[in-house]
Amino acid sequence: MDHSTPGIHHITAIAADPGANLQFYTDTLGLRLVKQSVNQDDVSVYHLFYGDRNGSPGTSMTFFPYPGATKGQPGTGQVTTVQFMIPKPAVDYWVDRLDEAGVEREASMNRFDETVIPFRDPDGLALELVATEAPDGVPPEGPVPPEHAIRGFHGAKLSIADDRGMPGLIEAMGFTETQQRDDRIRYESTGELGAVLDLKLRSDAARGRQGAGTVHHIAFRTTEAEQAAWRTWLQDRGLRPTEIIDRKWFKSVYVRTGAGILFEFATEEPGYTVDEDLADLGSGLVLPDWLADRREEIEAGLPDLGFPERSQ
Ligand code: ZN
Repeated sequence: MDHSTPGIHHITAIAADPGANLQFYTDTLGLRLVKQSVNQDDVSVYHLFYGDRNGSPGTSMTFFPYPGATKGQPGTGQVTTVQFMIPKPAVDYWVDRLDEAGVEREASMNRFDETVIPFRDPDGLALELVATEAPDGVPPEGPVPPEHAIRGFHGAKLSIADDRGMPGLIEAMGFTETQQRDDRIRYESTGELGAVLDLKLRSDAARGRQGAGTVHHIAFRTTEAEQAAWRTWLQDRGLRPTEIIDRKWFKSVYVRTGAGILFEFATEEPGYTVDEDLADLGSGLVLPDWLADRREEIEAGLPDLGFPERSQ
């Protein structure tokens, strides 16, 4: 196979309060809640998935919100910034929108000839809106007018202590070095969404500690046809991938990279509409088949989401 991924499939992070997380990503950022489920490894915790109207690969930001979770410490061995793509004419709209919502943000800046708005989510996770020649996409029918809506991922910043094999790994995955400034090296793949990885080499920085406001893992797009070959390929590189795990909405292979960042290779198929109609995505708690007979117990153990007023 040709070992290349078009880019990011989804990014999963840890949050504290599920209600605040839901409010911020749907009401403030205007993403759609496309799936409401549980952490399959700890069913007392939600797994909330946000994205465009379809939850397309390349748009899906997901969270494990642990009520009362301790804040993590961003640092090396982590994805330390998540970048969302907005259309170029939407910059002023977003600056005003974030300010009106009282979101903690820094001044807009220029990086690699793109306007970047850095800000933080309620748990302190570093986010950026990056203004580009964004594709039209399928914006959610949410509070943000479609012409300004977030299109999906622009990319992610990976902080690593030294190269630890990371440049070689992502180059072999199909990313090409395109730009460099100071200690930031930009790599790009071929997808319309989520095709950017910024490597930040920080030999002086402390290692990150997982907790609320930090990224748990980053998933890259693959297909059912190619997933097993990816797994073999990772093994051939001396890494230790998991078996293929059926996550219902996609199949996953996880691997801890030498740099400490957890990578996942997730299939584009079958997607979030496999168990809910497009119109109903995210409207109720969905469990994979093997957890279905535990629904009552699982629902009883979940905190109240405190559903905000939803515009969709
Ligand atoms: Zn994942």
